Amino acid sequence: MLDPIALAQELIRCPSVTPADAGALDVLEAALAPLGFACTRLRFEAPGTAPVENLYARIGSTPPNFCFAGHTDVVPPGNSVLWGSDPFGAEIRDCFLYGRGAADMKSAVAAFAAAAAQHLEKPLRGSMSLLITGDEEGPAVNGTAAVLDWMAAKGETIDHCIVGEPTAAAHAGDTIKIGRRGSMRIDFTLRGTQGHTAYPQRALNPIPILATLVSRLARQSLDQGTAHFEASTLVFTSFDVGNRASNVSPAVARATANIRFNDLHRPEDLLRRVRTAADEVTKQMGGEAEIISDVGALPFLTEPGPFTELLSTAIHTATGRMPQLSTTGGTSDARFIKNCCPVAEVGLSGATMHKVDECVAVAEIEKLTTIYQSILDAYFAAPSGR
Ligand SMILES: [Zn+2]
Repeated sequence: MLDPIALAQELIRCPSVTPADAGALDVLEAALAPLGFACTRLRFEAPGTAPVENLYARIGSTPPNFCFAGHTDVVPPGNSVLWGSDPFGAEIRDCFLYGRGAADMKSAVAAFAAAAAQHLEKPLRGSMSLLITGDEEGPAVNGTAAVLDWMAAKGETIDHCIVGEPTAAAHAGDTIKIGRRGSMRIDFTLRGTQGHTAYPQRALNPIPILATLVSRLARQSLDQGTAHFEASTLVFTSFDVGNRASNVSPAVARATANIRFNDLHRPEDLLRRVRTAADEVTKQMGGEAEIISDVGALPFLTEPGPFTELLSTAIHTATGRMPQLSTTGGTSDARFIKNCCPVAEVGLSGATMHKVDECVAVAEIEKLTTIYQSILDAYFAAPSGR
């Protein structure tokens, strides 16, 4: 038997703030190796980035290979003084486990390891694997994407995958994420001509031009949403001029927007749309707009089908309730895995993730362990149902 609570505590006690591993993967490996998992540590270091440790662990050599994906890195605790206990102390108070990573997502990693241990008490009909990265909360270049490249090069395949992100609304198993919207950043630079505020006719102030563009784009609706996705959104995150002088109108104004887009859009179409709006405004008002985009993540969707039904039924078996299928929230590493196989996210409640006093009810970790066990049992029992 593997105790998910003790393992979650041991993981939380490693201060593995991205890109540091701080012994977290050693802890996990020490739990998995005795169960028979072949553990491969993968250290990646793309140019200009800090090296990151990852772990791929597999047991069994025949298909299907059911994979659990997750991460052991965490976001910084912020000011530790604000916490009720040491953010890396893994203290249990009033039936809650406190610490950075308790919700996002060391407890889920521990829960899956415990579920796997339980499942391995009977013969395994196929293979089970864990793909655990130390670069989910960071730039994500030396993490899941790099591990998947390594796997592809080795001919290592996974057939179905669940990601243990904190995706539940209130209780483990109440929600399965079957997709996520994509995310892209757009930087606007509007150039005019600097001048004296007493002679505005001799200058071209970029502020009203950019303000017009900003308000036009902020009002536009991108779509009405789809059967599976919320509507796409464009949200401005900054508008900067940085001019302290009250008698000078500036030469340049800048703004940044973040677009969360569903699968009705491709990033290049969104960029074209933004550029067209900028051209219209500068044609009317003058100035020159420079627009740069950076695509953080493409949207993904695992269409409801045999795999999501298997997950829903298994969760119902474990909790007595059917989960909701959802595509809300930010991006996750499932965006990389969707290129390999059907993927969905099943985890704890994310109510306290990234916050001070991040915590999760001990009973919820136990419930998630039961859910993962139920999923493994259903998966390996139903070769035709997948
Ligand atoms: Zn996470």
